[in-house]
Amino acid sequence: MSNKADKITAIKGMNDLLPADAHLWEIFENTAQSVVQSYGFQQIRTPIVEETRLFSRAIGAVTDIVEKEMYSFEDSMNGDQLTLRPEGTAGVVRAVLEHNLVYEGPKRLWYKGPMFRHERPQRGRYRQFHQFGAEAVGFTGPDVDAEMIVMCRRLWDDLGLENIRLEINSIGDAEERARHRVDLIAYLQQHEEHLDADAKRRLHTNPLRILDTKNPDLQGIVNSAPKLLDYLGAESLAHFEGVKKILDANAIQYTVNTRLVRGIDYYNRTVFEWVTDELGAQGTVCAGGRYDPLIEMFGGKPTPAVGFAMGIERLIELMKGAGDTAAPRQCDVYLVHQGEAARMQAFIIGERLRDAGLDVILHCGGASGPGSFKSQMKKADGSGATFAVIIGEDEVANNTAVVKAMRAAEGEGQQQTVAFEGVVDYVVDQITCGDDCDHDHGHHHHH
Ligand code: ATP
Ligand code: MG
Repeated sequence: MSNKADKITAIKGMNDLLPADAHLWEIFENTAQSVVQSYGFQQIRTPIVEETRLFSRAIGAVTDIVEKEMYSFEDSMNGDQLTLRPEGTAGVVRAVLEHNLVYEGPKRLWYKGPMFRHERPQRGRYRQFHQFGAEAVGFTGPDVDAEMIVMCRRLWDDLGLENIRLEINSIGDAEERARHRVDLIAYLQQHEEHLDADAKRRLHTNPLRILDTKNPDLQGIVNSAPKLLDYLGAESLAHFEGVKKILDANAIQYTVNTRLVRGIDYYNRTVFEWVTDELGAQGTVCAGGRYDPLIEMFGGKPTPAVGFAMGIERLIELMKGAGDTAAPRQCDVYLVHQGEAARMQAFIIGERLRDAGLDVILHCGGASGPGSFKSQMKKADGSGATFAVIIGEDEVANNTAVVKAMRAAEGEGQQQTVAFEGVVDYVVDQITCGDDCDHDHGHHHHH
């Protein structure tokens, strides 16, 4: 590795998760998991690699993802066409059908994990990114559509995220969209010379997507375009009204954005996005909707479904802006020692403390030994430990250890010599300091 040009780095747009951020990811994932579990959702994990045709069929040939974003390759063993999953729904639906999961009735499922899209990397847009998502399969709605939305709201609240607003729309069914499409194309053709290259390309393939354009020059044109909502029949409208009614009854605020569509073909009726202004251009943190036609498209019995996917990176960005991002302390007890016999004792005490449910770091030095007491105590301090347990040659000779309080709440600086056998009880006692203690003992529950 002496030659700089030889240095191997991560692939552009694919990020490491470093310890400094790990606790935020843990908070997000744990909170999200407990929220969806409180609605009866169960976890599903599907492979990261699937057959390419799973995605091209589910997502649609004329979408951004299938046109240009998929990481596809040929399996060198057998020539199979494979793709790194760009989203989670297609794999979940494949698994639901393959294992006949809805045989016993509807299912509520959640997933999380990496997704891959060959995009131009920028803030909030990566080539490997992570989604947390949920799919409710076999429910006609609109109650379950509303449940999805309410569940997201609960997650934002639990995470302390305030500036996320909800946009909803209904994109009807295929027939309604077909009628709208005729008028939309005719309208856009009248303005064709003002369209950008992207919009011109989509005019006959995926004109609905033009409504979603981020080009400011096109806003006037798309604002006056025929609205899909005006083409919906009674059933689609009743469904949409049903969703809105539940949202209203639960004091969920939203705006109806008649231009909101999804970039993926399989959606129908309810679509929604959670959007923030705090992340610049990449402001959508969660996107979802109903996809009743998808399962039948895959050869299953007609089975309605609704789901959403959140971009975890974007939500972590919001969490960073929202407040307390300090890493939690690394341990309850830091073990300091000097000499071979003391090291053995420290190791054993560490195991006993962990048996008692505490988080413990045993000081481990470099090639030249553990270092001086002073330098070890510095490490103990930096770990945020509540107590240091110190064992030197004198302590070994007397079968004792010194327990030193490291934090003000525990009587900082105070230290106590304790018999080796009694160290665990003493520390546990001090940390829980009786049932009537109201000190904050950090991130987990001691017994
Ligand atoms: P965009 O219009 O921003 O490209 P999209 O319609 O492609 O979004 P979806 O396929 O609906 O996005 O994915 C759901 C969510 O996943 C997005 O709202 C976003 O939060 C997140 N997401 C999508 N692509 C990326 C990416 N390349 N990097 C990071 N997060 C992403
Ligand atoms: Mg995209």
